[in-house]
Amino acid sequence: MRDIATVTMTNEILERYDLKAKKKFGQNFLIDANIVDKIAKNACRSDMVCIEIGPGIGSLTQKLALYAKKVYAHEIDEQLLPVLNDIFKDEPKIEIIPGDFLKIDFKDMPYYDEALVVCANLPYYITTPILFKLFESDLQIDNITVMVQKEVADRFRATSGSSDYNALSVIVQYLYDLKYLMTVPKQVFNPRPQVDSAVITFKQKERIPLIDQSAFFALVKNAFRARRKTLYNNLKETYDPSLILKAMANSGIKDNARAQELDLMTFVNLYEEMTDV
Ligand code: SAM
Repeated sequence: MRDIATVTMTNEILERYDLKAKKKFGQNFLIDANIVDKIAKNACRSDMVCIEIGPGIGSLTQKLALYAKKVYAHEIDEQLLPVLNDIFKDEPKIEIIPGDFLKIDFKDMPYYDEALVVCANLPYYITTPILFKLFESDLQIDNITVMVQKEVADRFRATSGSSDYNALSVIVQYLYDLKYLMTVPKQVFNPRPQVDSAVITFKQKERIPLIDQSAFFALVKNAFRARRKTLYNNLKETYDPSLILKAMANSGIKDNARAQELDLMTFVNLYEEMTDV
């Protein structure tokens, strides 16, 4: 089959099936076959099943099938379902799963017990909920390789002291090793989005053991509640002030520090001091 991720093929498919990209589903189709190939090659393992969210007209799906054991692609847009089933009718490795990815229960999915990778050019309006559904799942995921808006990628990988650093950066870096694969210019999409994109990989890592992971995440979120306020002022809304001050002192944090100055390990120390580990 010819590459779908080209200007000619994309226009041909859109015309043949009388389709228009739908803004409400965040549809921006990739039209650069080299970029698509590179993303798929980086994400897939030949002995692992791949989950894709939002195959669109199948440009990335086609490449994922080259490198993965099997591909399950979730598509919400009913109009695209017959198109995808027609394009991939002779491709036994690809299965399209209709419906909203955010509403599925992984236990009902055919890939629930498989070793998995996830690869997607994500619909930008629901990037964070999709990622957190995956992060909080009990699936066996080796890596999640996704295209997101560049500014979102920058926030995920921001380190302490940078203006992009926030609660999500800390939580994501606690859970995964992040790899920035490439910046993708807006010119390689049809229709063209307003901003550039980036491809990042979240790779499973050995996590620092914590008594209660969700209590740690809550502490991090509370710490960043209001950016202009000090760490202490943000935390005292939720926790006992004398406990906070003692825990901060024991973790080597200055009284007037702000959350954005603390790296991951300092947050872990603070959490441990506050839970009296
Ligand atoms: N993978 C294609 C590509 O790279 O050209 C299309 C990517 S496009 C940015 C996002 C895709 O996600 C669209 O096909 C859209 O219909 C689909 N989508 C949007 N919301 C979804 C949801 N909640 N569940 C599943 N698919 C969704």
